[in-house]
Amino acid sequence: MIAPDLQERLRAVRHLVVFTGAGMSAESGIPTFRDRAKGLWAKVDPAEVATPHAFKKNPQFVWDWHVHLADAVSRARPNEGHAAVARLQEFVPRVTVITQNIDNLHQAAGSRTVIELHGNLMRLKAFVDVDELFSGDASPVICRICNGYAIDDELDPYAGPEDLAAIELHAGSVPHCPACGALLRPDVVWFGEPLDPGMLDDAFLAAETCDALICIGTSLEVEPAATLPWRALNRGALVIEVNPVSTQLSQSASASLSGGAAATLPLLLQSVWGSVAR
Ligand SMILES: [Zn+2]
Repeated sequence: MIAPDLQERLRAVRHLVVFTGAGMSAESGIPTFRDRAKGLWAKVDPAEVATPHAFKKNPQFVWDWHVHLADAVSRARPNEGHAAVARLQEFVPRVTVITQNIDNLHQAAGSRTVIELHGNLMRLKAFVDVDELFSGDASPVICRICNGYAIDDELDPYAGPEDLAAIELHAGSVPHCPACGALLRPDVVWFGEPLDPGMLDDAFLAAETCDALICIGTSLEVEPAATLPWRALNRGALVIEVNPVSTQLSQSASASLSGGAAATLPLLLQSVWGSVAR
């Protein structure tokens, strides 16, 4: 599957980064923002509805659309590829998963360190109207429960993070933060929103200090996350690509494995560590 000298190098790796995109979850049947929805929502363009502007205009409509997406995501199960990524923790001292997916499937499969560049559909946070935030005279108050910017500073002294965690994305009215009263929204990166700078720094640092990076099922078209494999390559790390189609990385990678995540990753583990993912 890969050359013996690369296998040898992989077995000696101390810190491995696994960078995953939509292709990772393809065999789990996960729809993405860019997929065409079915039925009721088929005519809605995700790029029109998964935006801060759309939420400000019609929070309920945007909430309902995410409930529809979450319905499919919550039925999905980790595939053999997710299981193989989690099993890497048995062979490599330190594994950092960096994902562009919002489906929680790496954690469900057992991966312990997961940097979710695009957030998590099942988690909520306060909606912050960035336009209003930067035009206001008063300095904003950060709600200690939801980490959103509070509408007023009369926080409920009895509300805690567990109160927020108990509120889920499900059909019904858009909920409010129990502490600051702000409208809640899914904790995902919408179109037109920047990635969390702290999280991106963590991802860059991991890519720049790892010994090897496996890049799985990402088309590498979305900057700045797409630079991760090159940050690893430039520091001399081994970079293995797993993708059914070739990308701009394929020629530069140490090895490029053509195939889907669920079929290819268990084979990679078997050939390098002599193990089959359960
Ligand atoms: Zn709050």
